[in-house]
Amino acid sequence: MQTVERLNSVLNGINIAPTDEQLAKLSAYFDMVVDKNKQFNLTAITEPDDFVVKHYEDTLFGASEFPKDARVLDIGCGGGFPCVPLAIIRPDLTIVGLDATAKKVAFVGGSAKALELDNLTTVAGRAEEKRDMFGTFDVVTARAVSSLPILLELAAPMLKVGGIFVAYKTDESELEQSKNAVRLLNLRFERSKVGTLSNGERRAILVFKKIGETPKQYPRQYGTIKKKPL
Ligand code: SAH
Repeated sequence: MQTVERLNSVLNGINIAPTDEQLAKLSAYFDMVVDKNKQFNLTAITEPDDFVVKHYEDTLFGASEFPKDARVLDIGCGGGFPCVPLAIIRPDLTIVGLDATAKKVAFVGGSAKALELDNLTTVAGRAEEKRDMFGTFDVVTARAVSSLPILLELAAPMLKVGGIFVAYKTDESELEQSKNAVRLLNLRFERSKVGTLSNGERRAILVFKKIGETPKQYPRQYGTIKKKPL
């Protein structure tokens, strides 16, 4: 199938050599998303070549930043990005996909079962309200959820001290406006991985480390986080 060949060559371009089984799972997930998308909106991207680049190449460009065997939380996983491609390509990771919209989470969880992805589970709810999950993750990640200062406040409480937040962004431009949040939340900007996708679009993976406990007043309620970002 043409899409699988294209997928393979695009992933080779970002130093990933998927097995036939991994390619088959990525391809099957594409079919599942496109099919479910007829019932409710999961993505605006359904054309195969676009999907390969904007969902798979994009989310897997960041795969190199996840430490081996890490326990990972994907905040606002939506239609399963980056959590599903990551779970397929990185079986060493144990991933939880979290989203405020229950039906998206049900779709991602059901798909993970159908694809026999034992390393991916899902939870419905809002990140700032899931107190039972605070302090339990080695890595938190998020793509296309909100601005960086807001994301940092959602991510920091979820991390263990020493854990990292991996943010999917277009470029490094939000770093400047996030300095206050980084300081107040006991984070430290560690590094970024900057690159260009096959379609010429720029991508930046920004990595922050939790260097101390998150002060008790964070996270605030979502209304306040949004209205008065740190
Ligand atoms: N990460 C996916 C989806 C992005 S759309 C992708 O890259 O394609 C943003 C998603 O974030 C939505 O599904 C929304 O329900 C979810 N979301 C926004 N704020 C959230 C919060 N505070 N907690 C959990 N999910 C949230």
